[in-house]
Amino acid sequence: MRISVFWFRRDLRLEDNRGLFEALNAGLVVLPIFIFDTEILDKLEDKSDRRVDYIYQALQAIDGKLESGLNVFYETPLNVFKRLIEEYDIQAVYCNEDYEPKAIKRDEEIRSFLFDKGVELRSYKDQVIFSKNDILKSDGTPYTVYTPYSKRWLEKLREEDVKDYSGENSSYLKGSGLLALEEIGFKKTDLIFQQALLDKQKISEYHLNRDYPALDATSYLGMALRFGTISIRQCVRFASENNQTWLKELIWREFFMQILFHFPHVEKGCFKQKYENIKWRNNEEEFALWCKGETGYAIVDAGMRQLNQTGFMHNRVRMITASFLTKHLLIDWRWGEAYFAQKLLDYDLAANNGNWQWAAGCGCDATPYFRVFNPTEQTRKFDKDLKYIRKWNPDSEFRIPMVEHAFARDRALKAYKEGLKLFGFPV
Ligand code: FAD
Repeated sequence: MRISVFWFRRDLRLEDNRGLFEALNAGLVVLPIFIFDTEILDKLEDKSDRRVDYIYQALQAIDGKLESGLNVFYETPLNVFKRLIEEYDIQAVYCNEDYEPKAIKRDEEIRSFLFDKGVELRSYKDQVIFSKNDILKSDGTPYTVYTPYSKRWLEKLREEDVKDYSGENSSYLKGSGLLALEEIGFKKTDLIFQQALLDKQKISEYHLNRDYPALDATSYLGMALRFGTISIRQCVRFASENNQTWLKELIWREFFMQILFHFPHVEKGCFKQKYENIKWRNNEEEFALWCKGETGYAIVDAGMRQLNQTGFMHNRVRMITASFLTKHLLIDWRWGEAYFAQKLLDYDLAANNGNWQWAAGCGCDATPYFRVFNPTEQTRKFDKDLKYIRKWNPDSEFRIPMVEHAFARDRALKAYKEGLKLFGFPV
């Protein structure tokens, strides 16, 4: 019997899933698979990683919905496909595109392996509304500034782009079932997977409340978007009807994804290369205090504690803590980026990297190097009743600031100016 394979990756849902829809409509029975890639998992130090548990529970939900079950592997993708090719008569392998550099490389390897065996890897756009070269400037080059990008994005948006790919015409091949978490080397965590929902009231008031970290006023959909347990088309349809400000946040997500796609050097280095000459202080003890939330700046410490305890930090506070690390402490943005990558449940390479470079001033469309967030001012504006601080950092008054704001600001400006001048650029 000839079959199709559908390979789940960052699209852990059965509904409105473009690649799955194409597989189910190709006329053959579909073998649904997921691969816990040993090369990725074995590098994760924390064996109680809530993100792995989230993926696991999302797979359990899919497995429960599929009468015939899912096939889950713990291996490298290449080895899995070597096996599947032996076992089945495969017509094509279906999946959704992934735009991260490592994923592109992996997919090229699998595509070429399958091609040699006479099997096509068919990949579809599902993770974003616009990808690759969909949105380019009139001269054919990618946008590097958000506002014109978002304007073009909105002009280009058609009904067709947010179409719902639900409904199925074919059936699934019986699966071998899930592995236990322990079989892939991980432990159960306190995370409880819930199907992501769009909250009409919250999103309708998003523009009014989103900047106040004490309020429950943002969607908390970062993780669902990261692992595709919710469809971006569904979110954009909802945003278009309910809140333009929220829609613009979804466009930021795509903006940074296309930056990473077109300028892959950002994964390791500054978007603006002249910023590589900044002499970071990189004091390890100070970095440890920042990580623990012991800088003596109440809002910074509250943010870091929220992150350490929950895996989430409010966006406003992400900006404050990132500015503090790069400007007040003059620590390389890559250190902060790596710490967030380890802790954030909604960690996404493109968004994390783009926002860290934005905060450090070295990214595309970044905050200017001379903008140094003043934590006290930020608190006055966004947490004036200290509700957020009291919740996450209740003993804040017993700590003294590790560095004085005005001194740190001057020091940062000097270091940035010096670095930029060294490279021969006027500042
Ligand atoms: P909402 O405010 O409800 O926004 C909806 C969605 O829009 C988010 O879930 C996210 O997918 C997208 N979005 C919103 N703001 C941004 C933004 N500035 N850039 C890119 N996408 C955005 N977001 C991540 O998804 N992953 C990260 O690893 C990440 N790292 C960050 C690091 C720093 C230093 C900063 C300043 C921001 C970072 N962000 C990151 C962006 C933003 O803080 C989070 O997307 C947001 O706080 C998640 O909460 P939410 O789901 O309630 O978002």
